[in-house]
Amino acid sequence: MIPVRVFSGRKVAVFGLARSGLAAVKALKAGGSEVFAWDDKDGLREAARAAGAAVASWRDWPWDGIAALVLSPGVPLTHPKPHEVVLRARQSGVEIIGDIELFTREVHGVPVIAITGTNGKSTTTALIGHILAGFDVQVGGNIGKPVLELSPPSANTIYVLEVSSYQIDLSPGFKPDVAVLTNLTPDHIDRHGSMENYVSVKMRLLKQTAKTGLNIVGVDDSHCAAIFTSLTSNGGAPCVPVSVGKVLGRGVFVLEGVLYDAQNSHTARVMDLRGAEHLLGAHNWQNAALAYAAAKPYAREMRAIAEAIRSFPGLAHRIEDVGRIGKVRFVNDSKATNADAAERALVCFPDIYWIIGGRPKAGGIASLEPHFGRVRKAYLIGEAAEEFAATLSGKADSEFCGTLEAAVAAAAEDAAKSDAKEPVVLLSPACASFDQFRDFEQRGEAFRSLVAKLQPEAK
Ligand code: ADP
Repeated sequence: MIPVRVFSGRKVAVFGLARSGLAAVKALKAGGSEVFAWDDKDGLREAARAAGAAVASWRDWPWDGIAALVLSPGVPLTHPKPHEVVLRARQSGVEIIGDIELFTREVHGVPVIAITGTNGKSTTTALIGHILAGFDVQVGGNIGKPVLELSPPSANTIYVLEVSSYQIDLSPGFKPDVAVLTNLTPDHIDRHGSMENYVSVKMRLLKQTAKTGLNIVGVDDSHCAAIFTSLTSNGGAPCVPVSVGKVLGRGVFVLEGVLYDAQNSHTARVMDLRGAEHLLGAHNWQNAALAYAAAKPYAREMRAIAEAIRSFPGLAHRIEDVGRIGKVRFVNDSKATNADAAERALVCFPDIYWIIGGRPKAGGIASLEPHFGRVRKAYLIGEAAEEFAATLSGKADSEFCGTLEAAVAAAAEDAAKSDAKEPVVLLSPACASFDQFRDFEQRGEAFRSLVAKLQPEAK
């Protein structure tokens, strides 16, 4: 834990007591603050009380004496409308910040790499951590441990932090040494009001990057391309563009799976990313290229970075190999909760026995039609079954299975009989999991254990 001493002897309020809020309570207490805490969920209050906070409704806090309100990123700051606690804090002139801001005020002189964007944040963050494993690398933020639960800095520490747009909103003083913007597509617009606001929040992080630092931007979508152009003409930190598919005169790019570094006057071939077993697909090449550029100032040795990218074990539930029985490969992509994400997995394999369904998103799987040719058969589960069957009708075979268990059994049997060289049973549901599971992790774990049960020696 990183004790936060900057508010020592003062009153600080914490609203929202899930993981990052509770970590803030503990860090502030350890640093000598008097902490007031509240969460509307009573199940979360006990741990804050046990950590020494005064647990009371925010309406009863001594607002006139409070130095700062630490807000959980899950609580609306601006849209769809500010939470009442936000209005109350503003009325008393109390500044509103998040856990990353506390970290920023507490920890100085230690390299910080921050990763944000719509997709690929977790993969890029974990991959940077993996590349920099020779350091005391502390990976956290929006992935794994909340930032204040990480270890305090040692002589060899690098912090690698995944930050969501909500966290950026609450971190006005955060100045990372390296900031990575993966890509931007419409997402969470309800919480940001408009795409414009969402883009400008993400851009703010890169504008905050230390002048001596580095910005790294995936320039393959129009929003990020515009941000890159704007940043390079603004006199801020230098900016490295990263592309998959375009040759860049200066920057880092991937062409037909090969990663090139053109940051200096000549273009160096770094590695063939097709040799990185757990970074399948062009989207992962983007993540790898971004991670390469972010780690390069610290790792320096190009060959060592390439070796680390090759040996990256991947993240659970994202195109994750969970077993092989005979020639049949089983792939868990439970994180694919919408059609866009499922598309990334579909393009990776030619002969797919596809388990899909759950609670559908608007638009369903209609956008995936160009890839239905790869689908040998679809196995439908959950609430989306009827809708998806209609979309697939006449374009790919499908079967109603109801449960994941029935789907795994049917898909495994059909795949084993298939004439394909390497048939893949793919759980990439293009749906939320909440109709049948607690979350996508539980769904992915269920898949993993069903596969393990099919044959004892399956990994
Ligand atoms: P995040 O943390 O931003 O949600 P993850 O690394 O967890 O990102 O990946 C989540 C999903 O997003 C993946 O399963 C994949 O479908 C998709 N994805 C990952 N990286 C990218 C990328 N660079 N571009 C587009 N989609 C991506």
